[in-house]
Amino acid sequence: MLCEDPTAAPRVEGKGMHILVTGGAGFIGSHLVDLHLACGDQVHVVDDLSTGQRSNLAAHEDNPDFRFDQADVLTWDRLDRAVGWADRIYHLAAVVGVYRVLAEPTKVLATNIAGCERMLRAARDGGWKPQVVLASSSEVYGHNDEQVLREDQDLVVSTRAGTRWGYSVSKIADEALGLSYAQRFGIPAVIARFFNTVGPRQVGRYGMVVPRFVAQAVRNEPITVFGGGAQTRSFCDVRDTVVALNALANRSRTDTLIANVGNDREISILELARLVIQRAGSRSTIRDIGLREAYGEDFEDIRRRRPSLDRLRNLTGFKHRYTLEETIDDLIAVERQGLIGEKDGHCTLVRHQSERAA
Ligand code: UDP
Repeated sequence: MLCEDPTAAPRVEGKGMHILVTGGAGFIGSHLVDLHLACGDQVHVVDDLSTGQRSNLAAHEDNPDFRFDQADVLTWDRLDRAVGWADRIYHLAAVVGVYRVLAEPTKVLATNIAGCERMLRAARDGGWKPQVVLASSSEVYGHNDEQVLREDQDLVVSTRAGTRWGYSVSKIADEALGLSYAQRFGIPAVIARFFNTVGPRQVGRYGMVVPRFVAQAVRNEPITVFGGGAQTRSFCDVRDTVVALNALANRSRTDTLIANVGNDREISILELARLVIQRAGSRSTIRDIGLREAYGEDFEDIRRRRPSLDRLRNLTGFKHRYTLEETIDDLIAVERQGLIGEKDGHCTLVRHQSERAA
């Protein structure tokens, strides 16, 4: 059972756990909200809607167990109160997406590091020590060229990656902050290194490859493969990601740990392009675009990225429910059915099939 947690003991009268999700209107955050509300928990979302969408949470607007505040974690004057209420905080508010990271390098550092520190300080200063789940990223491994990336390997910050490495630095800093607050102030921290999460509600506007390829294939437009397509990634369906994350957090209620969260099937970007074309029955051709043209600066892409999931599996026994083919099929169906609104380049809704994760 996805919701079952023998160690869960709500500290206050009322039902379920108190869950605070910063960045909860975003792609991963909104799926976490779905999961926790389905589990009978109470959920408070704070999101500045810079990239998140209120419509991602539309299904919950009338739910008395759900609350939303539009605010920036850097300046929100009620952060202390919200943190004091929470049993668990998922800190996802961050500047993400390679296009946004390249366009706003200073904002990346300010928001991602200062936002995390402010949240941890609030957790330290409250009377109660909530569990903190920090969203880190496979980007922290940088140019580490190991075939499989394990949590105890070195993090290789590479200046070859253009200004994109500021994002890696911000996530490494967040991890160090989480570990420091855990050691010094006893705040339990689960640090999740996400590997290329994909699925419903993700938008291609900030660079993410799968929604871009799906949108291009459905329209029979050329598929834009950057830099030759020999680079590999390992894609995990968001509906699996949030279940794994919850399982990790349930397992480690009072411990602090770092764990990769993703899927270990590896695929090259060129193979991905062909797979999307095939699943969509599309007439799209493949167009190779140089990295300078794609990203507007000298930019060395990460060559390969595949997680070791030993730690995740050993701790939780987690098993994936979605294959990459199923995820792509779902995204193609949604795109075709016109369930994705393209107003301002954002997706609206997508609740279909998420019941499978519940
Ligand atoms: N990519 C691509 N075409 C696109 C968008 C991205 O070939 O239209 C490539 C990108 O250069 C990278 C991979 O797909 O090698 C994954 O990109 P994404 O931004 O989704 O994730 P990340 O690079 O952060 O793993």
